Amino acid sequence: MSRVYNFSAGPAVLPEEVLREAAEEMLDYKGTGMSVMEMSHRSKAYETIIKEAEADLRELMNIPDNYKVLFLQGGASQQFAMIPMNLMKNRVADYIVTGQWAKKAYQEACIYGKANKIASSEDQTFSYIPDCSDLPVSEDADYVYICENNTIYGTKYKTLPNTKGKPLVADVSSCFLSEPVDVSKYGVIYGGVQKNIGPAGVVIVIIREDLITEDVLPGTPTMLKYKIHADNASLYNTPPAYGIYICGKVFKWLKAKGGLEAMKEYNEKKAKILYDYLDESKLFKGTVRKEDRSLMNVPFVTGDEELDAKFVKEAAAAGFVNLKGHRTVGGMRASIYNAMPIEGVEKLVAFMKEFEKQNG
Ligand SMILES: *Cc1c(COP(=O)(O)O)cnc(C)c1O
Repeated sequence: MSRVYNFSAGPAVLPEEVLREAAEEMLDYKGTGMSVMEMSHRSKAYETIIKEAEADLRELMNIPDNYKVLFLQGGASQQFAMIPMNLMKNRVADYIVTGQWAKKAYQEACIYGKANKIASSEDQTFSYIPDCSDLPVSEDADYVYICENNTIYGTKYKTLPNTKGKPLVADVSSCFLSEPVDVSKYGVIYGGVQKNIGPAGVVIVIIREDLITEDVLPGTPTMLKYKIHADNASLYNTPPAYGIYICGKVFKWLKAKGGLEAMKEYNEKKAKILYDYLDESKLFKGTVRKEDRSLMNVPFVTGDEELDAKFVKEAAAAGFVNLKGHRTVGGMRASIYNAMPIEGVEKLVAFMKEFEKQNG
């Protein structure tokens, strides 16, 4: 068996310890004689799994009691519709568009009401985060929406926007659990787990209780109401049971690593190795304004498409896979999520240096 260094943006690298544990429990989960995939989501064993997962996540993120944690399906993209359907009481919402995911969310919200694009960084191919200290937030906006870490472009908000009292809704798919957050500053935090937490198929929604109401847009399907899932502790119907089990293991892994403070320190150290090299290299260049750089997704280019392709190919042959940039951006992107070991980044940089020597 040989594992590669997987720099995929998602689905992405998971901790090897977690995968090994899951493998050990595959045929007989704790004496039940079956795998977690095969058990009833109403069983005692499964109840413990989902309850512990929620408790561990609450502990990791220090989630206040007046927030619900929901384990849902449909990916992050389904939230693009669920958010307006549930929160657009006035049918008005403000969107800050800092990349494709925010743009898709904005476009989806336009179906349901008046979505206002109050800021955007599209003028410079989303390579920065706009100043959000004094935006024209709409008087009657039901919420202000951001994508906190832009997976494709590699930018991250270092300070949250001033929402002028409106609830902040944040897509944190690609920075979930990468550093501590103050949950009380948000109305809704949500993310697909396949970037930094677990297998695709689970989306986690952390939502302030007063935002969960019966007063949703007419025609909202039962399955898309936050209230039905909150009232049933994510067990209204069969949840993505195996995925939640793996997320639970990752939460325990994070706790054992020292929690989110420790993760932040580790992620900063890892990202610095790559960014420092990009800043000194004559061949490779980062594509993002320095102060807005993401700790999780690092796009870079040589400026020569053929050379980019050569690099991606040779890197893959050397065991550094999935470094090709998003199809809309080109170049390269190294996603260095929580589970990417520091050795992976050190070795990648050593490989880049050698490539620069050969091709510079
Ligand atoms: C990947 C990603 C999405 C889309 O996730 P799906 O689960 O495929 O719908 C949305 N937002 C961000 C920030 C992402 O990185």
